Amino acid sequence: MVANRGEIALRIIRAIQELGHTAVAIYETPDNAALHIRVADEAIWIGDGPRRDYLSIAKIIKAAKDHGVDAIHPGYGFLAENPDFAKACEEAGIIFVGPPHEVISKLGDKVTARKIMAEAGIAMVPGTENLPHGEAGLQEALEFAAKYGYPVMLKATAGGGGRGIRLIENDAQLKEQLPTARSEAKAAFNNDNIYLEKVVLKPKHVEVQIMADNFGNTLHLGTRDCSIQRRNQKLVEIAPSMIPDKKLLDEICATAVQAAKASNYFNAGTVEFLVDKDNKFYFMEINTRVQVEHTVTEMVSGIDIVRTQIKLALGRPLSFTQDDIRLRGHAIEMRINAEDPQNNFMPEGGKTVSVYRSPGGYGVRLDGFVYQGFTIPEVYDSLLVKLTVFGFTWNETVDRLRRCLRNYTIVGPKTTIPFYMNLVNDPDFQKGDFDTSYLETHPNLFDYKDDPSEVNKLARLIAEIHFKKENKYAI
Ligand code: ADP
Ligand code: ADP
Ligand code: MG
Repeated sequence: MVANRGEIALRIIRAIQELGHTAVAIYETPDNAALHIRVADEAIWIGDGPRRDYLSIAKIIKAAKDHGVDAIHPGYGFLAENPDFAKACEEAGIIFVGPPHEVISKLGDKVTARKIMAEAGIAMVPGTENLPHGEAGLQEALEFAAKYGYPVMLKATAGGGGRGIRLIENDAQLKEQLPTARSEAKAAFNNDNIYLEKVVLKPKHVEVQIMADNFGNTLHLGTRDCSIQRRNQKLVEIAPSMIPDKKLLDEICATAVQAAKASNYFNAGTVEFLVDKDNKFYFMEINTRVQVEHTVTEMVSGIDIVRTQIKLALGRPLSFTQDDIRLRGHAIEMRINAEDPQNNFMPEGGKTVSVYRSPGGYGVRLDGFVYQGFTIPEVYDSLLVKLTVFGFTWNETVDRLRRCLRNYTIVGPKTTIPFYMNLVNDPDFQKGDFDTSYLETHPNLFDYKDDPSEVNKLARLIAEIHFKKENKYAI
């Protein structure tokens, strides 16, 4: 059973079916026209939702038991990092495709994870422990900021997905935001712990894919760069990192394996780091699940990460060693979201995809769930499809990406496609030079004309049909 929706559910259903097992989908009412229901071998309606039933551990476990499910893959998002869900699976005698709940629980807590890594001697940005409530917490925060200097990062200890992070520039902001951050953390994560970290200025976000079996083997599948972000959330992911210093990347990978071992890691996971301008790297967190951006690692390593995850969960050892891993070429993933980049990436849910035509060909991979005529439910996230391209050289990969973006037609919602078109044409991107400040330092990315009116798009389509724009759009 796949306890998730959208492209995630499809990605995992495909792996389950390829392994010769029966794939069971679940869905809430707003998703009743979703593709994952049709592609699965069985689909179970679990409630009206929205979101409530996809998150209901009791309902999902009951559905799984009723249908004789042997194993549950939580996907990435929703319940994937919820230790209670992993525990409920274990208690119901159902295999959970992921690490044991104890591991999820300690690593899902950023402060605990930092403690484990500190004990293992792994470098990280200076930070506080959980700040005490009230005046004592504020005093400790002010002292920390005085010692390390502004800006500082205020983080929800249980946060994730870029939520619960605030950049604080001065004492006044710290005083003002500490209580609101705490109450927001409570509301969002049901945990009101918050702490401070020193800010790494203009860092690169470099992360390492980890795989571990239950037979003592822990290995890595190389690095990914996820520096191109909006609101601390990833938009574009690249494998491997474009940092030219290969020795540094090897060191980061070795540290990731050490971090995984220090936390008794099992199954697939990601160790995230920040790399500063002097090429010093700092542990940030471990995500105890497969990630949205795993596709780029699959493209350069050849390893099917989800297939491997399932086999590990079924009790098999890793069938390859570190020496077997040979990374080849470059891969770039772009998250094509139903969002308006020119309007602060405002979601465009509720709209119908009236025309959908996707690119294809050599080195092109699409992980999506929309189809022509599909109405995007407003109540879920805005990711429509992930466009991942592979190429032997960086230039070839960027050229392929540009061609794919040109070949993409999505009529209905605004998407991130025109923004990405500017990105692939940006000289810094073409050089492979990016850090997490990229969007702020490149306002040119937002400079484009995108007329969303149906009439305009129809006119363009008619022009295409008459071959007036030969070769501009693929048929
Ligand atoms: P999440 O759990 O939401 O993924 P992370 O701790 O991984 O949170 O941080 C998400 C992003 O926020 C990072 O990729 C980075 O861009 C930014 N960030 C987090 N901590 C720092 C820091 N100490 N200094 C600079 N940027 C940071
Ligand atoms: P399978 O499920 O086909 O028997 P394995 O469990 O052996 O495959 O491997 C899981 C994933 O790792 C698959 O994507 C497979 O192609 C890949 N893989 C297996 N062995 C190697 C190897 N020696 N080098 C690179 N990739 C490998
Ligand atoms: Mg993170």
